[in-house]
Order: sequence, then structure tokens, then C-alpha cells
Amino acid sequence: MGENDANITFFKDGLRLDGRRADELRPLKIEVGILARADGSCYIEMGGNKVIAAVYGPREVHPRHLQEVTRAIVRYRYNMASFSVEERKRPGPDRRSYELSKVSREALEPVILTSYFPRSVIDVFVEVLQADAGTRTAGINAASVALADAGIPMKSMISSCAAGKVGGQLVLDPMKEEDNYGEADMPIAMTPDGRITLLQMDGHMTREELKTALDMAMGGCRQVYEVQRKALIDKYNQMEAEIIPDQEQPQEAEVL
Ligand code: ADP
Repeated sequence: MGENDANITFFKDGLRLDGRRADELRPLKIEVGILARADGSCYIEMGGNKVIAAVYGPREVHPRHLQEVTRAIVRYRYNMASFSVEERKRPGPDRRSYELSKVSREALEPVILTSYFPRSVIDVFVEVLQADAGTRTAGINAASVALADAGIPMKSMISSCAAGKVGGQLVLDPMKEEDNYGEADMPIAMTPDGRITLLQMDGHMTREELKTALDMAMGGCRQVYEVQRKALIDKYNQMEAEIIPDQEQPQEAEVL
């Protein structure tokens, strides 16, 4: 988030730099179950962001002293590949990735029924392959789908997206130029019935703008939820088609 020192014009003929309306999400694509060795996995594209989430567990906690007697612990590791940004990022964890891992775990933990699995751990790994602003929201969306894919009991899904302010106007799901040179960025995450589990803000908005931006971001999360839901239904429909043999298929000839 910075000053508009690049003197960017954010709108042309009422549309944004990538042709979107102010209240429009970037194109969203979700694929479920893309990793054979994970218990649950998901690949998401949110505009220019490309992110993979992998879930392992519930499984034994190592090191043992981290285990909780009454519930499973949830670990979330957000990692940005060094090739995910324009200039090579130094590999490995840094202050930003620790922060994003923490807030993302806290966004998901309230819906996970951790008391079902005492003394165990649910590990969530989020790998950002390509970044274009909003990677934490893309990661949370992918992680939520991967948790469902792993069969982890949850009270509900979590959907996430940001609203921002650029050139004095509120916009949904800011992309990189808007995030870097805009006035504010507010990522949120929520359950389908509107319970907020993540709310951060970088920059400045008036109280009125904040209310409108929150409504906008919540509307975005509802749209994300529909895509998450459809991706999961598609996967299970496909599995069903594979498991239940097609009645119309001709039976194989008996070998006498
Ligand atoms: P988010 O990705 O959740 O919006 P930030 O606001 O911290 O998180 O980052 C905004 C964007 O800035 C990222 O999506 C990425 O495109 C870019 N970015 C973040 N960290 C780096 C970095 N170390 N090097 C280059 N670009 C970065």
C-alpha cells in the first residue's frame, strides 16, 4: 500500500485498469483434489494469483509437546515461491509470511471441529506460485476447499476476498497496481451466513467508506462461496460417476 506516486489513472470510462467494474471480482477458478499424496488439496486462480493448498491430517503431532489433550491443533504455513513475484523473492519464511500464516489460521480455525480429534494436528500448506495481490485471500479460499476435500469436519466453509480504495473510489478484489498504489486494502474472510473470521486493513478510509467496503467485500465472499461449493460438488459428482458403473455400458462377454 503506497501513495499514488506513480500517478496511475485507476479508471478509464468508468472501468478499472483490467476492464472490471468497481464491484467486480477477478476471474475465479477452483480445482479440487489435485495432489495425490495430500489428504485434501485445491488449486485456485483468483485473477493473476495462482495458489495451491494441501491439507494433511488429522495426524500425530510432532514435536509431541505441542499436542493438546482436548482438541486438534491447526498449523497453517503460507509460503510464497521465489518465482511468484516480478523480482525474485528470497526463499524461506519472513515476517510477512509469519503474519499471513497466523491470520489465515485464525480465519479458518473457528469453523474446524477440532474437538473431534484430540492430541492430533491438521496441517495446512499454502504455496503461492504466482502473486498479484490478494494472495492471503486466495490462500484461505483454497485452504477451506482443501480442508473439506480432506473430509475434516467443519461447521461451514470460509470464503475470503478484499475491498480497497483507489483513486478515491471503493473497489472489490484489488489487483496488484491497485493494491500497491491505492489508498486502502481491506481483506476479510467469513462464513456463508456472514460471520467474519478475518478483518484487516492497510491504509485509510472514512467510517462511511469502511461500512460500504465491508458490504462490498462480504458480497465478494458470497460469490467466492458459490464457486467453492460448485468445485466441491463437481468433484463428488465426478467420483460418483467413476464409482457407480454406468447401467448403459454393455456387459463384458463371459469367458467360458
Ligand atoms: P496479499 O498478497 O494478501 O495482498 P500483501 O498486501 O502483503 O498481501 O501483498 C500484496 C502483493 O504485493 C502480493 O500479492 C504480491 O503481488 C506483492 N508482494 C508481496 N511481497 C512481495 C515481495 N517480497 N516481493 C515482491 N512482491 C511482493
